[in-house]
Amino acid sequence: MESIFGDYTTSSKVRIQDIVRKVNDMALSCKNITTDKSNVTINLNGQPYRATKEEEYFINKTNEFRRRLRNGETIDDIMVEALAIVREAVRRRLNMFPYNVQIEAAVSMLGEKIDSEHRDRVIAEMKTGEGKTLVQILVAYLNVLEATKDEDRSKWTSVHIITSNDALAKRDQQGNDSVFKLLGISTGFVPSRRATRTNNIAQMRINKEKKRKSYNCDIVYATATTIAFDYLEDNTIYDARSRNINRRGSFAIVDEADDILIDQATNPLKLSHVPNPNGTEFDKSIISREESIRSLYRWATEYLYGKSTKRPLKATIFDQYYINREKIEYNEFNDYAFIKESKEVFLSDRVLREIGYGLTNSKEDDEIYNARLFALINCIKAKEGFANGVEYKVEEKDGVGSIIIIDQNLGRKKYSNKYKGGMQEAIEAKEEFLEQDLPGARKRYHVEYSRTVSTTAMCTYPDFISTYDRHVCGMTGTSDEEEFRELYGFQTYRVRERKRNIRIDEEREVYATLKEKHAAIIEEVRRCSFTGQPILIGTTSLRESEIISSLLAQNYIRHQLLNANNEEEENQIIEGAGMFGTVTIATNMAGRGTDIKLGPGVRELGGLYVIGTSNNKSTRIDRQLKGRAGRQGDPGKTKYYASLEDDLVKEYYKGGVQDSLVDHYRGRGRPITNKKVLDAVDSSQSSRESKDKAIRKSNEMFSTSFKQHRRIIYENRNLVLDSNLDGFMNMVKGIITKYVDVLINDKNSKDEVKTLIGHLVDVNSIYSEDSQIFRQKLIFALWDVFRSNFSQSNVTNKEVKAYVDNVRQKFLNVIDQYWLSHIEYLEDLRTTILINPIGDPYKEYEVESIKAFTKDLLPSMYNEMITYALRPTMKYGSYRIDYSFKEEENQVL
Ligand code: ADP
Ligand code: MG
Repeated sequence: MESIFGDYTTSSKVRIQDIVRKVNDMALSCKNITTDKSNVTINLNGQPYRATKEEEYFINKTNEFRRRLRNGETIDDIMVEALAIVREAVRRRLNMFPYNVQIEAAVSMLGEKIDSEHRDRVIAEMKTGEGKTLVQILVAYLNVLEATKDEDRSKWTSVHIITSNDALAKRDQQGNDSVFKLLGISTGFVPSRRATRTNNIAQMRINKEKKRKSYNCDIVYATATTIAFDYLEDNTIYDARSRNINRRGSFAIVDEADDILIDQATNPLKLSHVPNPNGTEFDKSIISREESIRSLYRWATEYLYGKSTKRPLKATIFDQYYINREKIEYNEFNDYAFIKESKEVFLSDRVLREIGYGLTNSKEDDEIYNARLFALINCIKAKEGFANGVEYKVEEKDGVGSIIIIDQNLGRKKYSNKYKGGMQEAIEAKEEFLEQDLPGARKRYHVEYSRTVSTTAMCTYPDFISTYDRHVCGMTGTSDEEEFRELYGFQTYRVRERKRNIRIDEEREVYATLKEKHAAIIEEVRRCSFTGQPILIGTTSLRESEIISSLLAQNYIRHQLLNANNEEEENQIIEGAGMFGTVTIATNMAGRGTDIKLGPGVRELGGLYVIGTSNNKSTRIDRQLKGRAGRQGDPGKTKYYASLEDDLVKEYYKGGVQDSLVDHYRGRGRPITNKKVLDAVDSSQSSRESKDKAIRKSNEMFSTSFKQHRRIIYENRNLVLDSNLDGFMNMVKGIITKYVDVLINDKNSKDEVKTLIGHLVDVNSIYSEDSQIFRQKLIFALWDVFRSNFSQSNVTNKEVKAYVDNVRQKFLNVIDQYWLSHIEYLEDLRTTILINPIGDPYKEYEVESIKAFTKDLLPSMYNEMITYALRPTMKYGSYRIDYSFKEEENQVL
């Protein structure tokens, strides 16, 4: 049974209520804090700052809290006072006084102390419209105090407030900055890469500077995608000056936490590297291979549209393979058949012959025929099954168009993904053709072909969130407490609604076919929108949105369709969805974060009416949609629809069961009442839910080693990147020591050691049977080789620096190569183990991956680095460094 307070025990609940009461007790005295607006000059973070007396008071408070934390008090000791102060700051600047439930949510999110560095991780569940934005401010303030308590400013870290979309991040930062300013705390907003994309070099520099400045603030507002990519990029750079995030984020507050930690948990974020056209031979060969693929797809598209033959291919379109099987098998179709449901393509014999079937028997001809066949099929799919604005969108910038995939579930553009298996090329060729070659087409832009890209860094959202090492907490309208607990060790704290929920959830209706379901929905919309009651229709795919939209249009019902065009516009449309007489269609309301307020007169009509056109892939997402109605005690109504032809139901039934059920109930035009059938519809949802959960669970289990290894690699990479001359020398010493330890422990014979480093030192002359002595001698010998590079005459500081920078670049390169191949290895390992598990797959994976990391990756990496650093190419000399060997100064690696 779900407890009303989530996972929370009664004693924690009492503790939280106690704090809320104490914060309330301080409200009056805080209200009396001076409002004097006369100016004084104060010291703000070491700089003189013109402040009002009021600001001076609040800023001094902030500094006092920092000092107390520095002197050994904990967040618990200052919590009551600090919350009372920030609450008052909110009241003064935003003219809203945070409610008790908002204080309660904030206290829960701060968690209870585990040890001196850590507090437990909590997700606060607060229904939409209850005011999560203010809660963020309260939590962020306390986290900032902890993140900036050190006297040494270079040790300060940031608090990241992670929101679900760019427009909201910007809105919240701009909206709340005045509160933080009063408290002497800086805030910044980092826009998405997409929003700031430009080809203008000067503008790029300006953007980059702005971005760095924002990341240097105490509180940073951005989306998870933005920060994750900046973080990934920072771990691929070769020059410390190009780093995006100079001030680490160690606290995170994740808004709509279920969106990125559950719904998008398995979406990998990949940072890709595009080969440089003027680059190496390797890059060039990739490009020429790409060129031949391009021309193949161009050929197939032109053939399909009949550009050269003056005879466009004719299509026969079938809805479903199952119904039309015979026709397809007897080849009773035009030049090709296309099956809408499965996106399958069948070519007529004539077309097959035309593209080269059975012409000769040479191997080359076969290859050409196969390539053409494959390309043509893709091009037909691109023409018939992928529409601009539905499956993908051509986005134009500066006269260049590129193809962006639209996520069919979320209705959002997926910038980092490309279609696989030739589909990307086929769609690009189609769009290029339509733009340029169709009679009457205007040439507006040229389509930019995507490059073969290689991944240089990747992570998932949960991986990324795990990099916040001090504290992570989150908030959502709908938590899944079991999954949050099991996967990520989050507790859920459920905050009760301030006003009683009087929403009416109508009985759902299940129809046999999509057609009947859609007809029932349209009828319901027509019936209710007649009075002016606002209706929000939530669909599970963009396709369904389009269908509903065109049916509404046929019935002359005015409506707004959200179509992944522009976040800001979308936010506005959603915000207006509660106005008199509006009908809005949206795909997936989860993670949208925009509050829907009711317009005048709408309350009397029954408030917002939310219609779900099919079950989502989890009940949590359904609850998210339903939660839009009846917010803050408003009236509201919801109703869900489903059909036996819905994707979830089809997925659930194997064999012909689903078909025969549909046939049995088809055409009745009224909802199905059979209990068994209704139960099956529910089961189809829960079965999908548990399948998805299992996938996320497995991902999380498998990611443990990856995260550990990544941390080690990235830490060391940054050390290489940032170390000054002294630090660098120490690091080389460290590598030498570690490497020698590996050699002495693992390689038993002198000969083995000789094969590995004989090119660097004369092993025979220093060999000793006593392994400790041999170890010492080997370390000194290697160090001497390195040092000799500096001990000749006439070397300038500049030359040493150049030399070190050169070695630095090489080291980074070596680290990257080994790391990327390790990632590939981990993926292979995982597949191998899952296909053929022996015992506990996670355990086996862990053992094997650690072995690969410590026994293969690290030694080979050290070897390559040392060989490079010690190569005798330094001609310079008398640079006075005395790097005699002291082991205790060794840096890691
Ligand atoms: P959520 O993120 O939980 O959906 P929001 O933070 O968007 O909710 O807030 C919903 C609405 O409630 C906003 O218009 C906000 O200004 C208002 N609100 C929140 N807290 C308060 C408060 N303490 N006093 C008055 N209005 C509030
Ligand atoms: Mg919100």
